[in-house]
Amino acid sequence: MSISESSYVLVLNCGSSSVKFALLEPKTEENMLSGIVECVGAKNANLSWRYKDEAKQKKTLDGGSYQDAFNAIVALIYDLYKLADKIFAVGHRVVHGGENFTTSVLIDEKVLDAIKYCAKLAPLHNPANIAGIEEACKIFPKLPQVAVFDTAFHQTMPKHAYMYPIPYHLYTDHGVRRYGFHGISHRFVTRKAAKLLSKKLEDSAFISAHLGNGCSATAVLNGESVDTSMGLTPLEGLVMGTRSGDVDPGLHSYLVDTLGYDIHKVTGLLNKESGLLGVSGKYSDMREIETAISNGDEKAILAGEIACYRLAKYIAALSVPLGKIDALIFTGGIGENSDFIRGKTLNWLKVLGFDLDTERNSKHGKLSGGVITQDVSRTKAIVVATNEELLIAQDTANIIKN
Ligand code: ADP
Repeated sequence: MSISESSYVLVLNCGSSSVKFALLEPKTEENMLSGIVECVGAKNANLSWRYKDEAKQKKTLDGGSYQDAFNAIVALIYDLYKLADKIFAVGHRVVHGGENFTTSVLIDEKVLDAIKYCAKLAPLHNPANIAGIEEACKIFPKLPQVAVFDTAFHQTMPKHAYMYPIPYHLYTDHGVRRYGFHGISHRFVTRKAAKLLSKKLEDSAFISAHLGNGCSATAVLNGESVDTSMGLTPLEGLVMGTRSGDVDPGLHSYLVDTLGYDIHKVTGLLNKESGLLGVSGKYSDMREIETAISNGDEKAILAGEIACYRLAKYIAALSVPLGKIDALIFTGGIGENSDFIRGKTLNWLKVLGFDLDTERNSKHGKLSGGVITQDVSRTKAIVVATNEELLIAQDTANIIKN
């Protein structure tokens, strides 16, 4: 079968400790094979996958290296299901594209060098993305490879939204500015919401709240990001599983001076020991927080309160550049599944005209096309399931086949 007759895109999302993959048909949206290698870098690395509609399968890997993870995925594609000749391209999720990339691009040496250059802005993410690209180029040397960036969607933000009020030369000389992340998800769900609500994307105003382990909210006007909660790094903005989101920048020197921390310890504390985990003292996972809340755990209750209150404040702030709100979109693991968090957040937002419909909300927005507000509500809120892999596959196909 020639490449032009093959119809699937292999989507790779390589993180520091996991490799997610999917074989998708971009037009029909068929998911042929998908899975994840977890605990890469550890002894208990394991692969779980689903082929078509068959039951999920799982196996422990012999080795835990990045190479072992790729070998296991390749063995599924080549040996077990014999799918290699069905793939016409590989689409990679790349977290940081800096100011170099405003759209998805075909990867060549220049592009790879530019992604490597951006690694200093995303030291936890880009190196894993780069390793994935290099590995995929070795395994599939004849296939075109496309990079789809989390930052690209936010490159439409105006300067007053992306500049920090700090000395200007830090921007010109060192690229210090707000970039924003989760762009693939915000782009996917706003397009989907426009369809669900029969709105023209070119004449729409959405606030999208992507709430997973990482959380961000974005104001999307006429299909373009005009402001977002994450900044130079994915630490700014909302309360997350282990990330603090916004804190007083004076906190850093306070901790250095009073506790003798070095700056890396402070950054580590804000990234890995804060957010829901920091306040509750035990749980970074929202399901666990909700269970602890129902058992009366006071710190878990406070963690939930802070997260929803701060999310509501951000949503109100993001209405400023929009002027109107056609809908607030909830997505990501928490946004799609937690009626509790959605309800609590909307209860803070009556000022913006949100009237929650508790029945629709408890049915996870599956009624009325995902809408969770009452019909009389001045402003709508809607649940939309994100599908970043599908958007990566569609972007990849558009670049290769057009
Ligand atoms: P990631 O950002 O790693 O992609 P996800 O989008 O899968 O993560 O979201 C993970 C978060 O979603 C976790 O905090 C998890 O507890 C939460 N979550 C998943 N299902 C539910 C649920 N039914 N109720 C509440 N929270 C949920």
